Amino acid sequence: MTDCCDYGKCTNGPDCPVRKQRAKEVNEAFIRLHQGIDDPYDDFAAVIKGVIALVFLAIGLVMVVFAIWGK
Ligand SMILES: [Zn+2]
Repeated sequence: MTDCCDYGKCTNGPDCPVRKQRAKEVNEAFIRLHQGIDDPYDDFAAVIKGVIALVFLAIGLVMVVFAIWGK
């Protein structure tokens, strides 16, 4: 029973609880790994958005200054 699912052998058939548990563990590990990859990327994307917002703000300020000086 404890050898079930080891070495790719399953003696309990497709409804084997050991197999289901292992599939669940692999799935959860994959989700955690995926989230671990996504989190810093989201931070990076947020930084990029912040930089873009600052650039547009700077462009807007320059245009306002030009508009004032142009009159
Ligand atoms: Zn099994």
